[in-house]
Amino acid sequence: MRLSLVARVVAGLVGVAVMSGCQGPISRTVGMSVEGRPIEISTLGDGGDVVMMMAAIHGDETVGVPLLRDLEKHLTENPRLLDGRTVVFMPVANPDGYAHNTRYNVHGVDLNRNFPADNFDASAKHGSAPLCEPESRAIKLVLDEYRPNRIVTIHQPFNVIDYDGPGEALANAMGRYTDIPVERVGSRPGSLGSYAGITLGIPIITLEFDELTHEEPDHILWQKYGPMLIEAVRYPLDDVGTVQ
Ligand SMILES: [Zn+2]
Repeated sequence: MRLSLVARVVAGLVGVAVMSGCQGPISRTVGMSVEGRPIEISTLGDGGDVVMMMAAIHGDETVGVPLLRDLEKHLTENPRLLDGRTVVFMPVANPDGYAHNTRYNVHGVDLNRNFPADNFDASAKHGSAPLCEPESRAIKLVLDEYRPNRIVTIHQPFNVIDYDGPGEALANAMGRYTDIPVERVGSRPGSLGSYAGITLGIPIITLEFDELTHEEPDHILWQKYGPMLIEAVRYPLDDVGTVQ
């Protein structure tokens, strides 16, 4: 009797979710770090306009982790923003670095210098070859699978909205929602910006918060920076999925 009641309640909840068009994020593991930690993504929506939101490719630049969790929650609660879109979240791109609070992976490689861009520059800190690290390979697999229309990757501490490839208009759109300045910093060798932006031609934003931002409580972070991230999702479509 009790089981049957639970079953009916669960069925009812599922029915409500389906009827209202809401669906929570779908998570999966896309690779494993050097130390065997899962590299996870989650997706929301199933539209053709694909946005990839990443954080913590430098494991000690952690402010994007709660921000992306809050963005995921906001989009789940406001599914109209997902009309025509798919949002791919990779909140912790470097899980070993995140666990150890270091920039690098445990091989001492800066993953944001390990991509097969023309300017790749082999060294101990960049890796002996592009994609020699499992974490950068996992990111590349996600790019290949989802072919995002734009990418935002969150860093610290330079307080700038930097862009690579055809990312200037997106940077300016995001810049309207924050006092962080839009500034072209320059392409780093083998960076995700160089690879995705220049080699693949995908608008990519390297969003740098300042050093102190991580000291702010999560709800203040979301209040201050959520609108800028929502704009990155909406751009360049308005909220009914029409090209502006
Ligand atoms: Zn960084």
